[in-house]
Amino acid sequence: MKIGFNKPPYIGNEERYVLQAIQSDKISGNGFFTRKCEQWFEEHLRCQRALLAPSCTHALEMAAILLDIKEGDEVIMPSYTFVSTANAFVLRGAKIVFVDIRPDTMNIDETLIEAAITSKTRVIVPVHYAGVACEMDSIMAVAKKHNLYVVEDAAQAIMSSYKGKSLGTFGHLAAFSFHETKNITSAGEGGLLVINDAQFVERAEIIREKGTNRTQFFRGMVDKYSWVDVGSSYLMNDVSAAYLWGQLEKIDAIQEDRLSSWENYFQGLRPLMEEGFIELPTIPRECTNNAHMFYIKVKDLKTRTEFLEHLKRHDINAVFHYVPLHSSVAGEKFGRFEGRDTYTTSESERLVRLPMFYGLTSGQIEKITTSAHAFFEGKA
Ligand SMILES: *Cc1c(COP(=O)(O)O)cnc(C)c1O
Repeated sequence: MKIGFNKPPYIGNEERYVLQAIQSDKISGNGFFTRKCEQWFEEHLRCQRALLAPSCTHALEMAAILLDIKEGDEVIMPSYTFVSTANAFVLRGAKIVFVDIRPDTMNIDETLIEAAITSKTRVIVPVHYAGVACEMDSIMAVAKKHNLYVVEDAAQAIMSSYKGKSLGTFGHLAAFSFHETKNITSAGEGGLLVINDAQFVERAEIIREKGTNRTQFFRGMVDKYSWVDVGSSYLMNDVSAAYLWGQLEKIDAIQEDRLSSWENYFQGLRPLMEEGFIELPTIPRECTNNAHMFYIKVKDLKTRTEFLEHLKRHDINAVFHYVPLHSSVAGEKFGRFEGRDTYTTSESERLVRLPMFYGLTSGQIEKITTSAHAFFEGKA
């Protein structure tokens, strides 16, 4: 039996809620399940406002509009991230300034941010890679000192924290993803914009509703709604929100399952780390692990290619990512790398993501770790 890299999480209650949404005859945005999910996030994150969006990409785009990013502004982020982190700001005309990562967490190196700041810098975008927090105290301090905004790309960071505080609640704004490859999903695609700075709440609701004050109208705050600002359609439909609600209700069970898989991998692969063949993920003391991902690092690119082929021959689909943005065609055009690329390229070339999803069995993990032992210990 083949082991796929990902399987969209499915817990069993989704169908019931999706059907309920359909039968309610109201399945457009800002509906019953949307409000239920948003309230859940507002309570759990203790943020000013949580707005469901069609994807994390869209939530990041909303953040760039809210911060009035314009031609010539500079935005600091790691090069080791998904394209949407950069695109959201490039769409508004910003220049991306890439900074190197730390090899232990693959997150932006907080000590290099200040040197990348210029008079044009407006925003810092920390990406919590694999759901493990960036060094948020230092990042928020640098932002405050230079009067910059912080937008957390918390796409992978649901249910994770830094010094006891939820990720997604540090920056002025934050974005989560409910894509089918993330810990919970709203039927394949979806996202969330988190607003921690109250000054952005009203305008965010307007931007999401095509630049109209329709949300205030439904709350009875204005007696008719009209076009008041720029905007687009950044609403999640309520069928997707119903699907998400089924998973939010059971999020503890989903997390328990993923964390147990993560621990199984760690214990199964630990001997290979002790023998010096691979490196295992590091979770700094002030961070938690949400088991979004299980990755290992091998010696070099050549070893990675051979290892992935070995796993494929054993019907195991492991993958790698990201090609650093600064060395991609669009990255060269829209950004620049500030300082030295000490780790971004070299570390990204060594990284392998092993299958990780809700429902991965201990038998499957054993097959994968056994296959890894065979490869590295030469018994293949
Ligand atoms: C998944 C992901 C995104 C994009 O999320 P979508 O919901 O697919 O738009 C953005 N940034 C990071 C770091 C991601 O992992």
